[in-house]
Amino acid sequence: MSFDIVVIGAGPAGLCFARTLAGSGLRIAVVERQAESTLAAPADDGREIAITHHSQRLMRELGLWDALREEEIGCLRDAKVLDGDDQGGLLFRHDEAGAAQLGWLVCNHAIRRAAYAQAKAAPGVEIVAGVRVTAVRTGAAGAEVALDNGDTLAAQLVVAADSRFSDSRRAMGIAAEMLDFGKTMLVLRMRHEVPHEATAWEWFGHGQTLALLPLHDAHTSSVVLTLPPPEMAALLALDDAALGAAMAARFQQRLGAMQVAGPRCAYPLVGVYAKRFVAERYALIGDAAVGMHPVTAHGFNFGLLGQHTLARELRAAHAAGQAIWSPALLARYERAHRLATRPLYLATNALARLYTDDRRPARLLRKLALGAGARLGPFRRMVMHGLTAERGGVPMPLRGLRSRASF
Ligand SMILES: Cc1cc2nc3c(=O)[nH]c(=O)nc-3n(C[C@H](O)[C@H](O)[C@H](O)COP(=O)(O)OP(=O)(O)OC[C@H]3O[C@@H](n4cnc5c(N)ncnc54)[C@H](O)[C@@H]3O)c2cc1C
Repeated sequence: MSFDIVVIGAGPAGLCFARTLAGSGLRIAVVERQAESTLAAPADDGREIAITHHSQRLMRELGLWDALREEEIGCLRDAKVLDGDDQGGLLFRHDEAGAAQLGWLVCNHAIRRAAYAQAKAAPGVEIVAGVRVTAVRTGAAGAEVALDNGDTLAAQLVVAADSRFSDSRRAMGIAAEMLDFGKTMLVLRMRHEVPHEATAWEWFGHGQTLALLPLHDAHTSSVVLTLPPPEMAALLALDDAALGAAMAARFQQRLGAMQVAGPRCAYPLVGVYAKRFVAERYALIGDAAVGMHPVTAHGFNFGLLGQHTLARELRAAHAAGQAIWSPALLARYERAHRLATRPLYLATNALARLYTDDRRPARLLRKLALGAGARLGPFRRMVMHGLTAERGGVPMPLRGLRSRASF
């Protein structure tokens, strides 16, 4: 079988990319190792994705936003970042940004479901599910993707959206910076007595990092806890009642009683940045290009931005009768996406290291940083602009908050 573009991976990035190119006249195959029934109804993976204003606009254009259910969208009105026992902290307020809210929180499985439905219905897009890509070969004459069912797909261009641990990236000889933070992140939906007031908070306590992401219901939030793996394993061994009590204690009872209200999902924290985003007839998008630490909540936002940048180039080239695989086109994508992502990738890693380091100098440094950030209007405005700007590619903030009343 022959296509213009073969996309590896039907995660949010691969599916959005295929959907963005729908109607361009390009024939696209999206290959995914998971079964089609799983793509149509993805399991709850616990992740709540903070969506910026620019990403919301792109999701609207792709038809994803309207496919979400009301209860799957949480309002992110304000955010607060706290350090240790400090009562002050850094506050990001929607009214200072001149917006009705800083952003939205949408569950990842709902995004995946909506992206699959839109890609599946898109003209020119074929989903090839339940098969794994085993090899990619590219050369001057074209590209080939080998599948584990023995089939081979021919293409002009291969676009890899096969996760931050991308096998095809490695097979194509593209190295990647990998930063293992040595920590595990637990995401867990919880009900709590005190309402969240649409305020997210991030609290860098000693020996732990806690975040609260407000969901649609005023008494339900996604709790995000980062711990060393052995401590996390002990916590995960608790039953629901004991885990609820342990979480309430970690939050110093600021949210009142807490109960587990969703699956327990734990993720290793590894940041990944590909040394190159393109090779001959091959491009990386999504986490395969830039796998962010979740603390700045930007992985999917960057994935959306990158696929949009590449798709725009491809659509224009195809309409002009030019080669969609030209090295000049791929180089333009690489430059634009690197420029849009590299500064925040580096800043996020520095931030994640600073805020999970409990040695005295680091504690002092972050106290100073938070104090300066709180005093300096321009810093806070830059962060809020990153969230609320209608155009993408701008840096953005932390994902913290909680009920202001209880500070
Ligand atoms: C706890 C947590 C919280 C997060 N919070 C946020 C947030 O608030 N905001 C935000 O913007 N981002 C957030 N992210 C990041 C976001 O979830 C990811 O950036 C996004 O899901 C990546 O999408 P993707 O399509 O690039 O990759 P993936 O979702 O990893 O999809 C890759 C797909 O490729 C398939 N695949 C892989 N190899 C093969 C193969 N050989 N053959 C066929 N198929 C293959 C896989 O099965 C998979 O379906 C968070 C991440 C985590 C872990």
